[in-house]
Amino acid sequence: MEDLFGRYGLPLKVRFCKRCTMNNQRPSSSIEFKNKSDTSKRVISFDDDGICEACKYAEKKKQIDWKERERELIELCNKYRRNDGRYDVIVPGSGGKDSVKAAHILKYKYNMHPLLVTWPPALYTERGRKNFESWLNAGFANFTYNQNRKLHRFLTRSAFLNLCHPLQPFILGQKNFAPRMSILFDVPLVMYGENEAEYGNAIEENEKPTRDPKYYSAELSLKEIVLGGIPAVDLIKHFGFKLSDLEAYFPVNPYDLERVGTTVHYLGYYIKWHPQESYYYAVENTDFMPNDYRTEGSYSKYSSIDDKIDWLHYHTTYIKFGIGRATYDTSQEIRNGDITREEGIALVKRFDGEFPNEYIEDCCDYMGITIQEYYDTIDKFRTPHLWEKKYGKWELKYPIWKEDTFC
Ligand SMILES: [Zn+2]
Repeated sequence: MEDLFGRYGLPLKVRFCKRCTMNNQRPSSSIEFKNKSDTSKRVISFDDDGICEACKYAEKKKQIDWKERERELIELCNKYRRNDGRYDVIVPGSGGKDSVKAAHILKYKYNMHPLLVTWPPALYTERGRKNFESWLNAGFANFTYNQNRKLHRFLTRSAFLNLCHPLQPFILGQKNFAPRMSILFDVPLVMYGENEAEYGNAIEENEKPTRDPKYYSAELSLKEIVLGGIPAVDLIKHFGFKLSDLEAYFPVNPYDLERVGTTVHYLGYYIKWHPQESYYYAVENTDFMPNDYRTEGSYSKYSSIDDKIDWLHYHTTYIKFGIGRATYDTSQEIRNGDITREEGIALVKRFDGEFPNEYIEDCCDYMGITIQEYYDTIDKFRTPHLWEKKYGKWELKYPIWKEDTFC
């Protein structure tokens, strides 16, 4: 029988969603603390009409009664609001447009008392650092966990070399850190901005206001936790790191969550969440600023601009799944009605997969590798059924602008 799935468990036959620019190679959110180099991925599914899960969910969202959802939010706030001088909601973020909007609206419209918590990027961009400052200047207190730098650097390097996933150490903290702080400060309500599951996880995950605890909580032994492709037990035994520093990357203990009553919600469930509007909101209500120029690999100026590693991240997703930053940006904007599919395809053709020149040196220096090692690693992880070498240059075999020839 012919094989249906190739590397990373991705479907060998490439297809594109009929509505947006997403292909069928897009992995759903992973449980990062179990991620190894041979882990198969669940990918976005397409229905019989060739429409992706994210587009189907965007369609469903149009039926939502947002007035009713806002009533649910008000009820939730009434349940958790404290007027005794304590904080009553944890808002995680590093100062991007979504976390800025979430914190601001909770405090100034819904009369909550948010405590901001930050798992900072490995390498803040200059704009990212300024936006983080502007966020705090809008009237918030913040706790930032400055990771053990030696460890964070080692994990970023290992995640890149072993998994071609240099953003993994950041994602681990992005998911685990807020629930951990909820326990530490005895603030049960955690509120994220948008629900990233909307972009291609199983639809059931979007139909509830809370994040599935499997992404941030587990009762696991040291042997079962893998960070940057290395079992935690080896990080201690062979690399000399201490459990006390590693713990911040671990899933949270479910018994502690239960004791505090931690519950992790998305504001995007209660309020219509449109990335472009979050950007306008952040600009109007704080000193948030976009970049002066478009982001490499895309045409946008205000999405994921805090962390230099993000530039590499989108380059690696292009190598592994054929999905670069312009594909992510255009598919989301098509679903939100900002651009048409034709415009999206033209933007993908023009910008997707651009080499991350701006920060490659800084990121390689940080990881302690040469630029040649960067190239060698991405070539090792290049998915064979997506790429071919033509006249000494790698090209995608099935780009969206040639879909008529293979779909
Ligand atoms: Zn789609």
